[in-house]
Amino acid sequence: MPGEKKHFVIIGGGPGGTACATHAARLGADVTLIEKDIVGGAAHLLDCIPSKAMIATGGAMSAMKEATAMGLAKVDVELDFDALRDRITHIEDHLEQSVSTLLASQGVRVIEGAGRLTGTHTVVAEPNDGSDPIELTADIIVLSTGSRPRVPDWAPIDGVHVLTTRDAYPPPELPDHLIVIGSGVTGVEFVHMFNSFGSKVTLVVSRNQVLPGKDPEAAAVLEQSFLDHGVKLLMGARAESIELVDEDTDAERVIVRCDDGRVAEGSHVLLAIGSIPNSEGLDLEAAGLESEWGYVTVDHNCKSNVDHIYAAGDLSGKLPLSSVATTQGRKIAQHAMGLHQGPHRHLDYDKAASAIFTDPEIADVGLAEADAFASGRKVRVTKVPFSLSAKAMINNDSRGFVKIVSDPNTGVVLGGTIVGRHAAELISVLALAVTARLTVTDLVESLFVHPALAEVLGEAAE
Ligand SMILES: Cc1cc2nc3c(=O)[nH]c(=O)nc-3n(C[C@H](O)[C@H](O)[C@H](O)COP(=O)(O)OP(=O)(O)OC[C@H]3O[C@@H](n4cnc5c(N)ncnc54)[C@H](O)[C@@H]3O)c2cc1C
Repeated sequence: MPGEKKHFVIIGGGPGGTACATHAARLGADVTLIEKDIVGGAAHLLDCIPSKAMIATGGAMSAMKEATAMGLAKVDVELDFDALRDRITHIEDHLEQSVSTLLASQGVRVIEGAGRLTGTHTVVAEPNDGSDPIELTADIIVLSTGSRPRVPDWAPIDGVHVLTTRDAYPPPELPDHLIVIGSGVTGVEFVHMFNSFGSKVTLVVSRNQVLPGKDPEAAAVLEQSFLDHGVKLLMGARAESIELVDEDTDAERVIVRCDDGRVAEGSHVLLAIGSIPNSEGLDLEAAGLESEWGYVTVDHNCKSNVDHIYAAGDLSGKLPLSSVATTQGRKIAQHAMGLHQGPHRHLDYDKAASAIFTDPEIADVGLAEADAFASGRKVRVTKVPFSLSAKAMINNDSRGFVKIVSDPNTGVVLGGTIVGRHAAELISVLALAVTARLTVTDLVESLFVHPALAEVLGEAAE
């Protein structure tokens, strides 16, 4: 029954776990959350947020370097690594504190320690302070333990010269020449970040396009921007070994060898080749949970094969985004508390907006042009470049475009891609249009601010 007092035990305090905890508590549940590392989430607070903070610092540096184009006198700018480290620590601490305060305000009990299943209704928490294990009985169990960087056995990670993404916020030293392996979202963000800090960067791209699976026109704009900024692209090369040379001297070098014989040599290497789920310590078998590659198998309500056990966030093997984890957590709370029996909208992963925080930014939502054509679906595709926008000129940045995919019969907006400054903000308009099934006419007839980059959305909808 809705509002019934239930005991939730949530393992993992990232966006998935904490969103579930606060919503369940608001709906009247008694909630215990177990987190072993950082309240707010390791991937969220130690990867997602600091990466964006470092990109923002690099963006500030780039803006200053381009000061003369804005009618300013030339300014010299230099990265202060210690100040950057302090800035990141401050942001992480602040956000961790905010989440802890929110949980406390909702009456959520937080146990600092590692949790694991011992049965279908039982969990044990091993406190970080070494005190006795705490045995908990739950009506509802939510697993939201996230994921961590994938490290192949040929990568001798040392946290100094050979780095995972987690070692890089910021790294112990600024790379003179960074080799990034992996050209997905995380890899290209690192390329942009360190390039803007002044490091030389080489990107090893296993396919013939950076950002595989993304709009090829968007990827082409980014590739050109990388080349314009002196980034070396090793296209169609699959890294298969990393060698650390002169380990005992001050002048270590890394050598990355690729399967086709090409070699990249630099001072540091960073691996961005995906992630793996944090499920091995959970003892999924104790509750008879089904999983695939370590990801808990869930249905459209994020429910596992066991009726009252759910999984949220990266562990669910759906879209690995903080925004998705948060929404899953909230939906789980609603479902477990019986609210799905009223009007309820399932989470539609195909309508999740996502962004890549490069320069220019790339953001998309909904149906992609290439996917529509591949499936034979008839769509209308309209594209307008930012070079037509007065605001883009005012910003001294006319790169990129807005592309809208719509239904040719009804005009309903099905998807879109934006490449350009503030794309990550602008995509929200298209995300709303896709979710609310608005039409291109709705966009055309919206009175956007002038001058604003958003006007291009209206023009692309015409
Ligand atoms: C470099 C990088 C950049 C990213 N950028 C973005 C972005 O721009 N936008 C975006 O939306 N997403 C981004 N993401 C993805 C996003 O960070 C994750 O999708 C999100 O954090 C997943 O949330 P979660 O709750 O599943 O996991 P997490 O945030 O990792 O939280 C899981 C928590 O569970 C804890 N835990 C694990 N095992 C146990 C256990 N046995 N007991 C107790 N606690 C446990 C962990 O310590 C962790 O704190 C990025 C990820 C990376 C790696």
